[in-house]
Amino acid sequence: MKTYIVGNWKMNFTIGESSIYLHKLLKRIKPAKGMQVVIAPSPIALQPLSLQIDRKKMKLSAQNCCGKDFGAYTGETAIAQLRGIVDYCIVGHSERRYVFGETDNMIKEKVAACVRNNITPILCIGETESEKTFGETADVLKDQIETGLADVSAEDFKKVIIAYEPVWAISSVKGAKLASPDDIAASIKTIRGFLEKTYGKDAKDIPVLFGGSVNPDNAGAYLTIPGVNGLLIGGASLIADQFNDIIDVAKRVMS
Ligand code: PEP
Repeated sequence: MKTYIVGNWKMNFTIGESSIYLHKLLKRIKPAKGMQVVIAPSPIALQPLSLQIDRKKMKLSAQNCCGKDFGAYTGETAIAQLRGIVDYCIVGHSERRYVFGETDNMIKEKVAACVRNNITPILCIGETESEKTFGETADVLKDQIETGLADVSAEDFKKVIIAYEPVWAISSVKGAKLASPDDIAASIKTIRGFLEKTYGKDAKDIPVLFGGSVNPDNAGAYLTIPGVNGLLIGGASLIADQFNDIIDVAKRVMS
């Protein structure tokens, strides 16, 4: 199983800034064998960066897509339009769910559209602070996986990556807290248990990432939690030194 280090740039950087930053990363980053580095720039920068990126070093991801392939959907981008540009697409990020009101149903369509178009969806799941307080974490995670993967066939489930991101641990959320390795381990156990119950033993081949205020100091502890196959990184992926340091930590953990 590969180790994935995914940087989500969110709505940051102009096209020019994105290009300069990518240039810096390409010069600096030397991923280890068995590691897949992925960056998710703003949608407007994807096409120009696709001409600049060295795919042997890192791959591109979209941050979102439409669940329909083509048609009268003003303002949307079909994942079919991103074929040849990206290899991955983040789907159901908590900012899409809670800031833009995406429903599980929409997320299900997006995951299926990615799989149909040979682009790997990175399905984000995670409980809010109040769901955690009310002891609903396990139910929320199961529901989000069940609905998110509902239109993915039994042959295709291995084409999906899951990212566990407790919403209360995301750095941009007001009052965000660091998730403890014990908290994460319990949720990963729930996720892995549910995947195995649904898809059988082969479910162990589904990569599960962790995301939530990851930085070079905590990356090692998060990467050594059993069942975690990589990291989804927001804030720290915007700073070349930090992103590179996290990659170095991952290399040490993998060696
Ligand atoms: C995210 O938004 O996916 C994320 C993990 O952000 P941060 O690393 O800044 O918490």
